[in-house]
Amino acid sequence: MQELILLKLGEVVLKGLNRHTFEDKLLANIRRRMKNYGSFNIYSKQSTIYVEPLQEDCDIDGAYDACQKIFGVVAVVRARPCEKDLEAVIATAKVYLKDTLEAVRSFKVESKRSDKNFPYGSIEISRHVGGALHDAYPHLTVDVHRPEVTVMVEIREKAAYVHGPAVPGAGGLPIGMGGTAVSLLSGGIDSPVASWMVAKRGVQLEMVHFYSPPYTSPQALEKVLELARLLVPWCGRLVVHTVPFTEIQEAIRRDCPEEYFTLIMRRFMMRCADRVAKRVGAKALVTGECLGQVASQTMEAMASTEDAAVLPIFRPVVAMDKEEIVRIARRIGTFETSIQPLEDCCTVFAPRHPRTHPKVEDVRELEAALDIEGLVDRAMAATRYEVIRYGA
Ligand code: ATP
Ligand code: MG
Repeated sequence: MQELILLKLGEVVLKGLNRHTFEDKLLANIRRRMKNYGSFNIYSKQSTIYVEPLQEDCDIDGAYDACQKIFGVVAVVRARPCEKDLEAVIATAKVYLKDTLEAVRSFKVESKRSDKNFPYGSIEISRHVGGALHDAYPHLTVDVHRPEVTVMVEIREKAAYVHGPAVPGAGGLPIGMGGTAVSLLSGGIDSPVASWMVAKRGVQLEMVHFYSPPYTSPQALEKVLELARLLVPWCGRLVVHTVPFTEIQEAIRRDCPEEYFTLIMRRFMMRCADRVAKRVGAKALVTGECLGQVASQTMEAMASTEDAAVLPIFRPVVAMDKEEIVRIARRIGTFETSIQPLEDCCTVFAPRHPRTHPKVEDVRELEAALDIEGLVDRAMAATRYEVIRYGA
C-alpha cells in the first residue's frame, strides 16, 4: 500500500458545534492545495485527516511540505498503511523505518487501537513490534521514558498505519473561518509577518500596497508581489491591490508642514485601505506597526493613524522585538526578500524631524488644507489588482 500523509487537527476539534464547519473548511482548503501534487483521496476520521495518494506518480514530498503550511493542522506525519495483521505491521515497520531506526540508538513503540476487533491490545502490539524491531536492529535499546524515536502503530478501521515522529503543523485555524481583513503590505520585514499572524487565526487576507512612481521603482513593486507570492502557500490565494500614492504624497508635501508628513500620509493609507475593505467585504485592517520602532509608531502617532480609519486595526507585532519578528520572517520564508534594499513610499519624503507625540486635533486641522475626498477618490479609481494563485 502506498505511503500517505496523516494530519492531526488542532483547535478545530475543540469548537463544539462549530466543529463540522471547521472540519469542512479545512478539508476544502487541503483539497484545493493538494491539487498541485496529484490526485488524492482526502477525508477525516477521528480528529485525523488522511491524505491518500490515488496514483503512483503523486508528488508526496511536495504534498508533505505543503501540508505543513496549512493552518488548522497541528501535526503532520507520513505513514505507511498495511494489512491489519501483526506480522504485516512488523514487516512494514522494519522496512519503512529503516533509515530512522539506523540513525538513532534508542526507541520505543506506541500503539493505538481504534478498531476494537483487532485481536491484540495496544500494549501487546507495542511489545511484539518492539521486540521484532529490536531483533532486526540490535544496536537499538528500548527506552520507554526518553526514546530518541517513537515508532507509532495505529490500528484503524481501514488499515494499520506505521509511522515515525510527526513534524509540527502550522497551527491556528483554517483560512476562511475568521472572515476577511485587508493587510497593508510594504516591502519590509514586519508587514509580511503581521499578515501571516492574522491569517493564522483563520482570516482570509486581501493585500493593499501603496506605491509612488517615479519615486518608487517597478522593482520595489515587484518585491512586494514576490512577498505576496511567498505568503500564498500559507494564506491561500491572495489579491494584491496596488494603490498609486504619488499625487497624495505630493499634495501633502506641498500643503502640509514637513514634520507632519508621515502622520498625514498614514491617515491617507487608512482611508484607502478602508475603501478597499468596503469593496471586498473585509472587516478589519492589519499593519506591521511595532511600538516605538520608528517615529510614526508611538502611541500618539498610532492614535492619529487610527483616528482616520473606520475599521479596527490589528497590529499583531505591536509588542514584539525585532529579533522575534525576524525569527518568524525566516521561518515563513519572507526574510531574504524583505531585506533586499529597495525604497518604499514611506521613506521617499520622510521628514527630517518627524512629530513623535502629535495631538490628533492638530493633525486633523493641518490636513484640512487638502482635498481629502478627491485625493482618495482618484487614488482608488486608479487602483489595480493582481491575483496570486496557489502554485502560480
Ligand atoms: P514594515 O517592515 O512592515 O515595512 P516598518 O517597520 O518599515 O514596517 P513603516 O514603514 O512605518 O514600518 O510602516 C508601518 C506599517 O504600515 C507597515 O508594517 C505596513 O503595514 C504599512 N505600510 C507601510 N508602507 C506601506 C506601503 N507602501 N504599502 C502598504 N502598507 C504600507
Ligand atoms: Mg516599511
